[in-house]
Amino acid sequence: WNTTSLSVVVVGASGDLAKKKIFPALFALYYEGLLPPDFSIFGFARSKMTDAEFRDMIAGSLTCRVSAKDKCIEATEKFLKRCFYSPGQYDDAKSFSELNQRMGEVERGSGKPRSNRMFFLSIPPNVFIAAAGGAADYCSTKTGWTRVIVEKPFGRDSASSAALGRGLAAHLKEEQIYRIDHYLGKELIENLTVLRFSNLVFEPLWSRQYIRNVQVIFSENFGTEGRGGYFDQYGIMRDVIQNHLVQILALFAMEQPVSLNAEDIRNEKVKVLRCMRPVKLEDTVLGQYRSRVHGGRTLPGYLDDKTVPEGSLTPTFAACAMFINNARWDGVPFLLKAGKALHTRRAEIRVQFRHVPGSLYKHKFGPDLDNSTNELVIRIQPKESIYLKINNKVPGLGLRLDTTKLDLQYGNAYNAKELPDAYERLLLDVVNGDKRLFIRNDELEAAWDLFTPVLHESESRRVTPELYPYGSRGPVGAHYLAAKYGVRWGDLANDDGDE
Ligand code: NAP
Repeated sequence: WNTTSLSVVVVGASGDLAKKKIFPALFALYYEGLLPPDFSIFGFARSKMTDAEFRDMIAGSLTCRVSAKDKCIEATEKFLKRCFYSPGQYDDAKSFSELNQRMGEVERGSGKPRSNRMFFLSIPPNVFIAAAGGAADYCSTKTGWTRVIVEKPFGRDSASSAALGRGLAAHLKEEQIYRIDHYLGKELIENLTVLRFSNLVFEPLWSRQYIRNVQVIFSENFGTEGRGGYFDQYGIMRDVIQNHLVQILALFAMEQPVSLNAEDIRNEKVKVLRCMRPVKLEDTVLGQYRSRVHGGRTLPGYLDDKTVPEGSLTPTFAACAMFINNARWDGVPFLLKAGKALHTRRAEIRVQFRHVPGSLYKHKFGPDLDNSTNELVIRIQPKESIYLKINNKVPGLGLRLDTTKLDLQYGNAYNAKELPDAYERLLLDVVNGDKRLFIRNDELEAAWDLFTPVLHESESRRVTPELYPYGSRGPVGAHYLAAKYGVRWGDLANDDGDE
């Protein structure tokens, strides 16, 4: 960076994601001293704004970690001075040429002979390709690298995803494209490979021999709340399961990569996905939340959201059973579940182990042996933690057993009350050219192949989602699905401190 400046362009800078995540993440990287000395931020969108108005808008979105309050306040003004705005249309060459000119002026002002440029496409999918083309064709730097970050949705199915891929490939090389899945930037997901491959005690148990089933669970305790227009075109299966949960599953189940190099890790992930069979409709439960009166208040149903088309069948909840046909995982059910407007907000991986063969203590647990098996829980959010449920002797005379936890709470162990946001890690990775946490084209293709048939079938047959009340634990069908494979959802045990 001694000779190179960095320009970060947020395309769609007036939008929700930009304000909620991208600017705060860039600011945190700045006040933590992680951005190169000569960096500038450019906003690009159709909205008309001056630099001053743009800076005011950003200032309203910046947040400070309590632990960094002093340096953060001091940094705000300096950070804002490096922010510039260039309005334009996403499909207009002239707009991008003007942006290019503006960037050139600022970069030359830094006195550095070289410049690197990264673009964050934070815009709706209908303008993705046009904007990627504008950025690549009219704003690529001649003296460094140009990288483009794209956000989900990466299409609606295999065909539209492939079309998007071709559209991007017409302007950019694969090495320039960073497909973001912000779940991969979460602390506990990054830790998954560390947990598995740097401890002796987990990896030998990580197979069909010892693991009964694996559950990847995502729940939100709020509905679409007036933002259902976008969601309705996708549904929970595309919005959460096909990307975030499948990415977690792949990291969880992959073989040990040759190295920590991005290609080695992604090679292993894609192998897992290619060993899986597409999800079947009969192994899927779809749900939609309905209104409910609670504490004198009416919680609105999905169809009460004015932005949702009348009579929509879009699922706000889905659960599915998946299988990995390889030597390690043959026959082990992987149950994925995601839903909106449920009773709690959390994301976690639950690993349920088999019974202890010939256990001396079997009689202590009565007929319900399931209660005695070990369970490893990796809580991704909130209150990041890893805990292992074990059987233990209750202290005192006599022999009474109970199930208790070996419990690693991040908040206590690391005083980590304010972990960096996933977007901070991911933006820093793009600056450093580290693609470990980004999705490669073939991974995306393999993930779509798993879900496209069931999505098409449920839509063409107009499958009616099972209704569940706002704030409940979801449709009953999810229990039957789990029971079909001899599984009990671990998150319903109600012993893990719901929010
Ligand atoms: P957004 O607020 O709806 O849109 C971003 C900007 O794009 C808007 O400020 C608007 O800017 C422009 N825009 C909106 N609709 C447009 C249209 N029909 N045609 C052309 N331009 C339009 O979106 P967002 O929530 O920031 O999300 C950006 C991208 O990230 C989307 O692809 C979204 O799916 C994805 N994403 C968002 C979130 C989130 O939490 N918000 C999470 C994950 C992924 P101008 O009118 O000023 O041009």
